[in-house]
Amino acid sequence: MKADPSAQRRLLDLAAVDAELSRADHRRRTLPEQAAVEEAERTLRAAQDAVVVAQTTLSDLDRDVAKLDREVEQVRTREVRDQQLLANGSVSAKQANDLQHELASLERRRAVLEEEQLEVMERQEAAGVDLKHETEAHAVAQTALADAVERRDGVLGDIGTVEVRRGEERTNLLKELPEDLVALYDKLRSRGAAGAGELIGNRCGACRLEMDRNELREIQAAAPDEVVRCENCGAIVVRTGK
Ligand SMILES: [Zn+2]
Repeated sequence: MKADPSAQRRLLDLAAVDAELSRADHRRRTLPEQAAVEEAERTLRAAQDAVVVAQTTLSDLDRDVAKLDREVEQVRTREVRDQQLLANGSVSAKQANDLQHELASLERRRAVLEEEQLEVMERQEAAGVDLKHETEAHAVAQTALADAVERRDGVLGDIGTVEVRRGEERTNLLKELPEDLVALYDKLRSRGAAGAGELIGNRCGACRLEMDRNELREIQAAAPDEVVRCENCGAIVVRTGK
């Protein structure tokens, strides 16, 4: 294949643009900022779970406290009723005796309930403190995620800008370059090679390998408009006189 030496040099500009586009693509796929977002999402999910656990614990204790309140109230009502019966003197001696026994037993029962009440209320208070802490941790995790997303989107925006700019350059370069040369270059690139590289000294700029003397002699001896290739990586080797 033949191509004007100036077109061959222009091909190096295309290769440089494509290398930058590849780097941008690679960067997009391996962003540490994306990993940070995923980590922040995991932290937030754990914080949400912890809030739910703390809420459940607290609402269970709220229910226990309410139940104990009702039980204490029932005992008190019963005590008042018994005391009134005793006070108005309308009961027999045996009934009065029974009522006194019952009052003693109600008092013991109430003491037990009130002790339990204190204990559950202490746990309720501790659970309230826990819930407050977990809610705060959740808010911190939400802010951290928002920050991480903002940082990642900022970097993605930068990458997008590079891609748009280089994409435009690529389009313009394609208009200038001979189609057959670009077709060969694209075919080489589709195989994962660089497509084109500058001959620097005795090195292929695409694969960076040194050429042996024979290969180098052949390349240098080829007509300037001859499209020559690297024996090692297959890339188009562009002679710029360096
Ligand atoms: Zn090479």
